[in-house]
Amino acid sequence: MRGLLNLNRGRHLVRQYSWMEAVKTMLAKPRKKIYNLGACFELADISQTSYNPSKLSESKFLEYSNLSNKLHLREAISHILIPRVVGSGNHSLVRQYIVQSLKDLDWHVELDSFHDTAPIMGQLHFHNIIATLNPDAERYLVLACHYDSKYMPKAEFLGATDSAVPCAMLLNLAQVLQEQLKPFKKSKLSLMLLFFDGEEAFEEWGPKDSIYGARHLAKRWQHEGKLDSIDMLVLLDLLGAPDPAFYSFFANTESWYMRLQSVETRLAQIELLERYASSGVSQRDPTRYFQSQAMRSSFIEDDHIPFLKRNVPVLHLIPVPFPTVWHTPDDNESVIDYATTDNLALIIRLFALEYLLGGDQAK
Ligand SMILES: [Zn+2]
Repeated sequence: MRGLLNLNRGRHLVRQYSWMEAVKTMLAKPRKKIYNLGACFELADISQTSYNPSKLSESKFLEYSNLSNKLHLREAISHILIPRVVGSGNHSLVRQYIVQSLKDLDWHVELDSFHDTAPIMGQLHFHNIIATLNPDAERYLVLACHYDSKYMPKAEFLGATDSAVPCAMLLNLAQVLQEQLKPFKKSKLSLMLLFFDGEEAFEEWGPKDSIYGARHLAKRWQHEGKLDSIDMLVLLDLLGAPDPAFYSFFANTESWYMRLQSVETRLAQIELLERYASSGVSQRDPTRYFQSQAMRSSFIEDDHIPFLKRNVPVLHLIPVPFPTVWHTPDDNESVIDYATTDNLALIIRLFALEYLLGGDQAK
């Protein structure tokens, strides 16, 4: 992805918000301007979703917090952490690994396959992976990441944070929560895991050379009238390095961002986050991943954009600043901080369970 952010000079970009202000923001249903390098588009009025699941009870929260499979997470990372440029043999291997892992857990998996032309490479065959617990559900919480790695002709690029770790986190969620997710194979509200292909640019990031898979799928689903079934697209990117700081980017998903904050706080209170308080980076709270700040005027281009443009609510879980190894050969296994990775995976699992279970949808 490409970012238009400068936190060091970014005080004007980052504003503190209070609960009261957040409530006002939600009530105001603001029109939101999104700035791009060369363009500006404006989203239509976005209603805050009326879905408001209850928080997990103390006992359920504790019960689900104790579910984990750290060995599986590491195994999944090792399977995905190979150069996997679109069209390569490794790319097929990683795709097959993701598909088979989910099929083994009894997920419904389909590929959205298409051809597109890319600079340097010519025509390429792309495949988005779409996995659902219930393919006939009416609504989905969608957790997404990209599984291709960046083409880097002069170096071996593994893309640990970008995005082997996020992919592994999603597979691990399916593995760890297999029992808890069973009711969602029949429910109207269900879970979807989306693995985008072709996120990376081959030559230079631009509207025709980047997010190939996301552009294709958002367009296809718009034509098929399927976008309305997405409650929210939660996009994971650049995860796995130590000391990430996340921000709320979008007003219409701020209440869900606050839920992530709340899960993080609850876990910290019962001391279930590993090596939690970190070395700290200036201009943020070093004792939290999910910062109590909104970042509205900033803009990061990533797989969410074609969906955002079509008014799909988006929660973008990407650290700001990006990891220092971003788009360098150093984005390899050595940058992965497993304590942080396990902590984030746990927060995301609990968030997903609260979203799915809190509304009593599966009962
Ligand atoms: Zn990248």
